[in-house]
Amino acid sequence: MSRVYNFSAGPACIPEDVLKQAQSEMLDWQGTGMSVMEMSHRGKAYMSIAEKAEADLREIMNVPDNYKVLFMQGGASTQFAAVPINLMGSNRKADYVLTGQWSKKAIAEAKRYGDVNVVATTADSKFTTVTEQSEWNLSNDAAYLHYTPNETIVGVEFPFLPETDVPLVADMSSSILSREIDVSKFGIIYAGAQKNIGCAGLTLVIVRDDLIGNCIDGMPAMLDYKIMADNDSMYNTPPTYSWYIAGLVFDRIKKNGGIKALEEINRRKAAKLYSAIDESGFYTNPVDVECRSLMNVPFILGDDALDGAFLEGAEKAGLTTLKGHRSVGGMRASIYNAMPESGVDALVDYMKDFEKNNA
Ligand SMILES: *Cc1c(COP(=O)(O)O)cnc(C)c1O
Repeated sequence: MSRVYNFSAGPACIPEDVLKQAQSEMLDWQGTGMSVMEMSHRGKAYMSIAEKAEADLREIMNVPDNYKVLFMQGGASTQFAAVPINLMGSNRKADYVLTGQWSKKAIAEAKRYGDVNVVATTADSKFTTVTEQSEWNLSNDAAYLHYTPNETIVGVEFPFLPETDVPLVADMSSSILSREIDVSKFGIIYAGAQKNIGCAGLTLVIVRDDLIGNCIDGMPAMLDYKIMADNDSMYNTPPTYSWYIAGLVFDRIKKNGGIKALEEINRRKAAKLYSAIDESGFYTNPVDVECRSLMNVPFILGDDALDGAFLEGAEKAGLTTLKGHRSVGGMRASIYNAMPESGVDALVDYMKDFEKNNA
């Protein structure tokens, strides 16, 4: 067996000790004689797994008591619909910040249910920056403000927390658990699991109590936060295995110094990679320095005719999935929590060698 350093944007790498624990428990979870995959979600064994995962998440994110944690399905893309359905209320209007491909999709989905006011867009810059809030065109009757703290594709991250009187809704799919945040500043935080939490199939939704119970009539029960909350996310069969894996990840974070410790490592990893880019005469990153993402680092080679050779050599060095998104080109290294610092070191070494041999 040989493991690679996997820089995929998602599904992404998972901590190796989590995979090993899952492997060791695969056939027989703690003397039950069955895999977690085979358990009834209402049985005692699974309930203990589910409850511990939630308790650990609450602890590491310091989730206040007046918030529910929902374990949903359908990915962040389904939350693009669930948010307006549950929050838009009777005037059916919301504010959205447009900073990249994911907020664009969130906006397109919200428009199916009501009026969307785009408060600012950075399309002109090819989404390589974030507009200061003083320049936003906020409406005075929006039900909420939605933004994407980290745009995964271009690697642009908000350097500030938006200030608003209405509930703040954040798509944290690619940044949740990467740095300390104050949950009480948000109305809703949602995230697909396949980047920083665990494996695909699970969508985490952290929602303030007062935002539950206002779902538009006639919408699918599975998207109604109240139905989900009243049934402890078990209105139907939840994504049991993904929930279990998320629980293993939360437990590991808790035991390893919490999000604070992770944030330190993440800042170090990102600094190493951005320095390698900036100090080279060969690689560039298109994003405004203060908006650079901690998690997704695109970089362009001095000569794009060398992209193929770069990727091939990287693959041989055990550095994989570095090809950039088709809309940006070049490379993209996603360095989520589960990417060890040694992986970033190996990438930086490879980049230096490649430049020396090819530039
Ligand atoms: C990956 C991603 C999504 C899409 O997530 P799905 O779970 O595939 O629906 C949405 N928003 C952001 C910021 C992402 O990184």
